[in-house]
Amino acid sequence: MAVTIKSEREIGLMRDAGKILAEVHAKLGEAIEPGMTTLDIDRLGEKLIRSYGCIPNFLNYNGFPASICVSVNEQVVHGIPNDNTVLKEGDIVSLDAGLIYKGYHSDAARTHGVGQISEDARLLIERTKQSFFEGIKVAKDGNHLFDISNSIDSYISQFGYGIVRELVGHGIGSKLHEDPQIPNFAQRRKGLKLRAGMTLAIEPMINMGRCDVDWLDDDWTVVSSDGSLSAHYENTILVTDGEPEILTLL
Ligand code: MG
Repeated sequence: MAVTIKSEREIGLMRDAGKILAEVHAKLGEAIEPGMTTLDIDRLGEKLIRSYGCIPNFLNYNGFPASICVSVNEQVVHGIPNDNTVLKEGDIVSLDAGLIYKGYHSDAARTHGVGQISEDARLLIERTKQSFFEGIKVAKDGNHLFDISNSIDSYISQFGYGIVRELVGHGIGSKLHEDPQIPNFAQRRKGLKLRAGMTLAIEPMINMGRCDVDWLDDDWTVVSSDGSLSAHYENTILVTDGEPEILTLL
């Protein structure tokens, strides 16, 4: 599949889709507290998304049974919301959410602390977020795709964290997952040339320990193999001639 360049009309719709998702994430972040189940988060997220007249794009995607991916502690991504997992003080929880607005997708993820968390956990979350911002510094017309990957890797590697390799960022638009794939670890090649009008979901997933991951028996939930904490930060961005525009931030 070719990498698509969005028209002004499409970019406008993706800005709207992104803005709504940013608001959904802000409200979910405010709601997180000890005692909530991961299913509570999913129900609230779906309600919020539908309250804007949007469709949760993860629901039934390749059979995923919920609207929000809720991944706790050593879970990296794609945690399935359920009634048995109760958030407790000191946990960290990654929320990956996406929606469709007038045919266009947005996709973003945040990791939150539940109540008071350890300093190590706080730093993991903060540095994972910062690695996204390091990555998009080079996401501009004329640069290459893997400049983003290299920038994320060179920032994260100083901390001795493990960058998840099996899951990557992606193009996004009228489909949730479009070309290109965007690795979060260093590449030897340059990758394709970035062009204004490309819309990308950049999403570093960082383990406090080693980079290796496993899949649980539910065939969705990805966990760090060594059981270490994992954080995720993602936004949908628009490549321009200058600074990229982050579509899923308020
Ligand atoms: Mg994504």
